[in-house]
Amino acid sequence: MQAGVSEIFSSIQGEGKYVGCRQLFIRLIGCNMDCPYCDTDKLAHSNLVPCVLEKCEGYEGDLELKNPLDLNDIMPYINYRLQQPHHSISITGGEPLLYPQIILELAKNLKPLSIPLFLETNGTLVKQLAQVIDEIDIISMDMKLPSDIGKAYWQEHEEFLKLASKKDVYVKIVVSNESTVEDFEKALSIIKNIDENILLVLQPITPLGGLHEAPPEKMLKWQTRAMQVLKNVRVIPQTHKMMNQL
Ligand code: SF4
Repeated sequence: MQAGVSEIFSSIQGEGKYVGCRQLFIRLIGCNMDCPYCDTDKLAHSNLVPCVLEKCEGYEGDLELKNPLDLNDIMPYINYRLQQPHHSISITGGEPLLYPQIILELAKNLKPLSIPLFLETNGTLVKQLAQVIDEIDIISMDMKLPSDIGKAYWQEHEEFLKLASKKDVYVKIVVSNESTVEDFEKALSIIKNIDENILLVLQPITPLGGLHEAPPEKMLKWQTRAMQVLKNVRVIPQTHKMMNQL
């Protein structure tokens, strides 16, 4: 079984509920979306790029591997990095749910270490989530606003969140100057109807792709509104970018 992996590295989680936690990131290649504000290098969506393993003291294997690769090719590196303490393993992308079989295999390999698996996802691939959910501990789910990405995924987001809500899930919404109130209200009603206790993280956009920064007043106004319908709403920017971390 093979997958495209663009990089593996150890860093802090820069976004959302677990901001500041140390994670080993495994970034899988490819995505089913094309968001204008995507900060993943477009080349990293292609199997033409090699998998880059972060340099680390004492590791003697190759630090560049040819894609697509087999999980056995990267397990020695993952096991080596996990000799140091990590809060969890972040399976990220792109969209990692494009590879449910790889996630299952990874979970099986990591079982003896009892380390939590953290899935970072755009919250649209419902069937694939159903395949892996028993192995996942924490889900960071994006809800994409059509006013920002030009396409609506409401039904997918709703079904996805219903399923994800049996795990430790939080929803993240990127907010730009262009994000509309109508889209925001729709997102709030979906979350509220599933469980008003689900954490909502409002993430001010790092401007990219023609979208502009949301003014601070907008962030506060939207948080106030969200707190009228949900129990836990936080505004958290991308902190890793402030610190120049990966
Ligand atoms: S879902 Fe995430 S990885 Fe995919 S295009 Fe959008 S921002 Fe990029």
